[in-house]
Amino acid sequence: SKSKGKYRSTVYNSDIEMKIKRKAELILNLKKALINEEFYVVYQPIYDLNLNKIVDVEALARWRNTEFGEISPVEFIPLLEESGLINEFGIYMIKKVFGQVNKWNSDGIKLRTNINISPKQLSNIDFVDSILKLGKQYNIDFKKIVFEITETNATNIDELQNHMLDKITDLGIEFALDDYGDAYSQITNVFKIPVKEIKICKELIDKIEEDYRVRLMIKKFIETFLELGIDVIAEGVENLSQLNLLRDLGCTKVQGYYISKPVKYNLISNYLELKN
Ligand code: C2E
Ligand code: CA
Ligand code: CA
Repeated sequence: SKSKGKYRSTVYNSDIEMKIKRKAELILNLKKALINEEFYVVYQPIYDLNLNKIVDVEALARWRNTEFGEISPVEFIPLLEESGLINEFGIYMIKKVFGQVNKWNSDGIKLRTNINISPKQLSNIDFVDSILKLGKQYNIDFKKIVFEITETNATNIDELQNHMLDKITDLGIEFALDDYGDAYSQITNVFKIPVKEIKICKELIDKIEEDYRVRLMIKKFIETFLELGIDVIAEGVENLSQLNLLRDLGCTKVQGYYISKPVKYNLISNYLELKN
């Protein structure tokens, strides 16, 4: 009937239906995106507050699709995880990043490079062999590679994942705990994963100027972690006043738009000359 049709189209146009439709279409495009190399990498510099220079970069994935335009990793990483393509994607990212690190090395640029890893990738037994193979291919010094793991998903590290963490650590690759202090944070993860660095989430850094309680918490985090031999990186630093507060609290490194937005790999060299 007429009224039923009207009802249907109302539902169809609802936000939720549009979101579901977009999600389904994006998932259908993921495999093709991998084959067509629609994913690329940008790098965000990380500034050392003791050395007063940029020492690391974080590799961040981007997806540009002709139909959908730029799609945020906040949207597509969960879809890759859901659709079982995260392992293939993870290796693709590492290959891309290693290739670019190799070019930096031949230009005499010495940086440590952080790569985001989904905990699901630690359940893939072939992961270590792939890293080794790509490391050889691109002549990578694994001591200059850091894997960032997000707490959200790292809460239930099983036996296999633990074994993989050890094997990767044996290669010389270090781990950093990402997004520390967000809603999913569990202090126990610091002990479950052999982390050398902890990244304090932007949500806390956002409040560091106005809320003395947040300031006190961050101060205690930093004290504790430094005493444990773990460096602390503040994420999402957007102004000088935040940077100065973090410096006063003894924070090791800062990352955020105040230092630089993520940029294409060929721009990193100019940036180093400017900032160093
Ligand atoms: P993340 O690892 O916490 O990365 C930091 C995010 O904050 C990045 O967003 C970065 O562009 C943004 N950011 C950095 N500084 C500032 C700042 O000062 N202000 C604001 N407003 N934002 C800042 P991006 O690139 O959209 O990445 C979002 C998330 O997607 C990442 O969060 C990470 O969890 C995930 N991701 C990105 N690339 C990869 C990847 O290759 N593999 C995996 N598994 N996850 C990835
Ligand atoms: Ca990260
Ligand atoms: Ca983070």
